[in-house]
Amino acid sequence: MVKPRTLKDILDAMSSKDAKDVALVTTAYDFAQKAHKDQKRYSGDPYFVHVAEVGYLLAGAGMCPEATTAGLLHDSIEDAGVKPLTIKDLFGEEVLTLVEGVTKLGTLRYRGMERHTESLRKLFAATAQDIRVLIIKLMDRLHNARTLGHVPKDEKRKRIALETLEIYAPIADRLGMSVVKNELEDAAFPFVYPKEYEKTKAVFTERKSENERRLEKTEHDMKREFAEAGLRSFRTEARIKGIYSLYQKLERKNWDVSKIYDMRALRVIFPTVAECYTALGIIHGHWRPVPGKIKDYIAFPKPNGYQSIHTTVYTGDGGALEIQLRTESMHHEALYGIASHLTYKEAQQAGLVQKIGSRGGLEWMRQFFPRRGKEKDSAPSMQQSRGPMGVPEWIKELGRAHQGVGKSDEYMDTLKTDFFSHRVFVFTPRGDVIDLPLEATPIDFAYAIHSDLGNKMSGARVNGKMVSLDTALHNGDMVEVITKASAHPSRKWQDIAKTNMAKKHIRAALAERKTP
Ligand code: MN
Repeated sequence: MVKPRTLKDILDAMSSKDAKDVALVTTAYDFAQKAHKDQKRYSGDPYFVHVAEVGYLLAGAGMCPEATTAGLLHDSIEDAGVKPLTIKDLFGEEVLTLVEGVTKLGTLRYRGMERHTESLRKLFAATAQDIRVLIIKLMDRLHNARTLGHVPKDEKRKRIALETLEIYAPIADRLGMSVVKNELEDAAFPFVYPKEYEKTKAVFTERKSENERRLEKTEHDMKREFAEAGLRSFRTEARIKGIYSLYQKLERKNWDVSKIYDMRALRVIFPTVAECYTALGIIHGHWRPVPGKIKDYIAFPKPNGYQSIHTTVYTGDGGALEIQLRTESMHHEALYGIASHLTYKEAQQAGLVQKIGSRGGLEWMRQFFPRRGKEKDSAPSMQQSRGPMGVPEWIKELGRAHQGVGKSDEYMDTLKTDFFSHRVFVFTPRGDVIDLPLEATPIDFAYAIHSDLGNKMSGARVNGKMVSLDTALHNGDMVEVITKASAHPSRKWQDIAKTNMAKKHIRAALAERKTP
């Protein structure tokens, strides 16, 4: 039988050693243990194992004591019949809000699929108030995904696994929590696509020893080259690609294994950004880089905040290897993403960080495009433009998405097409970043900023050139909307628009024109 994480495990993982915080978490640990004492998991383990693990994961990701406490208590209302008032009295309003945010709806009003999507809606609405709710839910799902094999019914197991792949893993990805994303995917993959999983695993196993040898040899030579150049303070680690992520790549490359160089990658972590670039020079001086494989995500971070330099080099044995260069703080952020910033809450409250602007669009995205020359290791840029609760704008959108959307399946469609499909990030002339689904057009862009802008749109310029309104936008495009007082949406726009948000506004505008 699995033993629950001990209180000491959790306290050790916490960044705060403040007596008040320790007392809060200690009380919650004992309380949860008593509340769930008669319950068991499908595995036969005590139910408490689950909530203790969720608390531990939250503490380990650097979350605040209130979130860790809420993690320990997250199933106490729903599964152990604890009264909300009891939680409020013992742990305070803040913890109660978090626990209620992750609590599913009662079974009375909704059933089956309806209950399920309504619960998701509620989750996102609560998340829009406080992003910690979503992170607690992600850790809850992570432990449930790890123990999926114990879920007795095939159908239920598959439903949970599919939802994990389609909704929770992409959320973790959007929040930059790569550790969570990878583990969610790899836990769910075998249950959703068992055949593909076996096939991918076979490829991985077949290449394992060759890849290991290549990595070791390159690491050895690289350390020597660095030492000769006087680069001494760094550490290395092997990054092994997740099995689901490998599967997706194999699909993209038509299962041509020779085109995949990063099943195992070599990661080098330096104290400063300057050393990353010095190292890149040394590496390219010694090995020939594979053309088109050099990616500078330090100068151009990924939309979720990820920063590193990637390069792939020919290793002289007929193969190639990916090398990733980054600083410690980039490394920490790459693993825990947004969670690693919520510990800076105090800094925000102390007024150490200011809000940048407040005009429409996804203002929070600005934080992912740090100002040049300010890439100091100790100054993570992410927390700067967030409100007190740290809620990115797209999460608020999730909470609002249900307004005016009737049926559950329509809501799920909105979630999938508007939020979790691949995204493009484009700019307004002022440099604000607007986040849109793939294939989105200037029409979607205009409505994403404001319905009035969409309704008065007469044309659009992309990167300074006039384009037709059905042009698909690409990452990095600068889009300018041209308006005319007499302009109005046409019927055709409904087909051109990709986001449900734009379609909804166009429908409303057309209906309004009909009824004078
Ligand atoms: Mn749970």
